[in-house]
Amino acid sequence: MAERDALVVGGGLAGITAALRLADTGWRVTLLEGRPRLGGAAFSFRRGDLWIDNGQHVFLRCCTAYREFLDRLGATSLVHLQDRLDIPVVRAGGGLAHLTRTPHVPAPAHLAAALARYSALRPADRLRAVRGALALGNLDPTVADLDNCSLGIFLKQHGQTEAVINSLWGIVATATLNVVPDDASLALAAKVFRTGLLDRADAADIGWAAAPLGEVHGTAAAAALERAGVSVSVGERVESIRAGGFVSSRRGESRRALQAEAVVVALPHRDAFRVVPELTETPLARAEGLGTSPIVNVHVLYDRRVTDLPFAAAVNSPVQWVFDRTDSSGLARQRPGAQYLAVTVSAADDVVDVPSRQLRDRFVAELERLFPAAARASVLEAFITREKRATFRQAVGSNSLRPPAETPLDGIFLAGAWTATGWPDTMESAVRSGLAAADAATGRPASSALGFAS
Ligand SMILES: Cc1cc2nc3c(=O)[nH]c(=O)nc-3n(C[C@H](O)[C@H](O)[C@H](O)COP(=O)(O)OP(=O)(O)OC[C@H]3O[C@@H](n4cnc5c(N)ncnc54)[C@H](O)[C@@H]3O)c2cc1C
Repeated sequence: MAERDALVVGGGLAGITAALRLADTGWRVTLLEGRPRLGGAAFSFRRGDLWIDNGQHVFLRCCTAYREFLDRLGATSLVHLQDRLDIPVVRAGGGLAHLTRTPHVPAPAHLAAALARYSALRPADRLRAVRGALALGNLDPTVADLDNCSLGIFLKQHGQTEAVINSLWGIVATATLNVVPDDASLALAAKVFRTGLLDRADAADIGWAAAPLGEVHGTAAAAALERAGVSVSVGERVESIRAGGFVSSRRGESRRALQAEAVVVALPHRDAFRVVPELTETPLARAEGLGTSPIVNVHVLYDRRVTDLPFAAAVNSPVQWVFDRTDSSGLARQRPGAQYLAVTVSAADDVVDVPSRQLRDRFVAELERLFPAAARASVLEAFITREKRATFRQAVGSNSLRPPAETPLDGIFLAGAWTATGWPDTMESAVRSGLAAADAATGRPASSALGFAS
């Protein structure tokens, strides 16, 4: 039987996944990526002798598609996944609480047990938090109306005080939805809290890259795609895509025209509509209104260790989350004894345009408040990375704007973390979208089986 041709445009996690799935199904696949590397929004760059991630990327045990993706890339050994949830929560002056789960306590009781011990909240607020958890646990994320409500309003309606929101729900919601609770779509928040925290006891065990993201997603993906027989062209920018599978691309001054039975458009939403203008004449055009939301990272290198925590969330602080990147960046080898902390600020609208010098001063001072040992250390270097369009804006009303993989255009399919996967704009959503687009292209029923095997 003649091979069927597919083009995948965009080499982020969605495009890599779609290409692997199509190749597994026996299609001849070419992947075109505009940048000189794979991995899309989750990447690393070189700064001196160190590898710096553009932003800390975290996943949860419940991210089953992303974890299978790592397996398929042979990259599972490059990430660390907690045996059981333990979020250290730091406060000014060195105060430390833990949000942990007890082994062998089934859901949802596991959370009640964790909240009972959660010393970042006063005992009365811990009881309120249990009430909030029960209310969130009763939400069905697939009910469309939830998208028209705000998480913040819902929490307040269910007795959650500012303290509970700031010290508990907001820590999780802002990091996963990249908007503050008052702005967040309740439908997407319900997905986060149900699937990520409440439905299974082990769902929220936290994972993160133990190597630079470029190694986890870029190098490992390139090798997996090669093994699968996918032809990969990086540094080749697609300029337009038309119904019928017509693609024109450009590399420097040279242009080429390609055609395939199926084209998977795995681009950020703003690029997808620009590159496939015919989409703007379809009902899917409403997704142009998804907007964007920024994430800022503040990277601080100290001459000595200032904390033994591998990561922590912070309450009542502009430092939302902080991660120890000493080993993964290569600093441990370059300068033994030194430490590299990366601060993540999600929903960073107020911060993203602040000059670097001001941000460095503000966050270095804040880290001293959270980790008193930092005040005795010397800062070797501090710098900022900004992702102005890190995710789509997961605000009230956004979930219903997301398009499915199928489009009304002949041979054109959509992938990307922003498409209608039911998940927030995450690596898990990107991988799920790639699987869905490949299945739509091959006519395979959208299967519940997420495995890559055909
Ligand atoms: C700072 C930051 C922190 C984050 N933290 C987390 C986290 O902790 N956990 C989590 O799960 N998710 C996180 N995310 C979100 C996650 O990175 C994204 O959801 C996911 O990587 C999106 O993958 P994608 O393949 O859908 O899109 P992208 O990664 O955006 O891939 C699209 C690709 O298309 C390419 N492209 C664009 N235009 C063209 C063109 N014309 N021709 C050819 N190629 C083109 C781009 O170069 C890019 O490689 C974070 C994102 C950022 C930016």
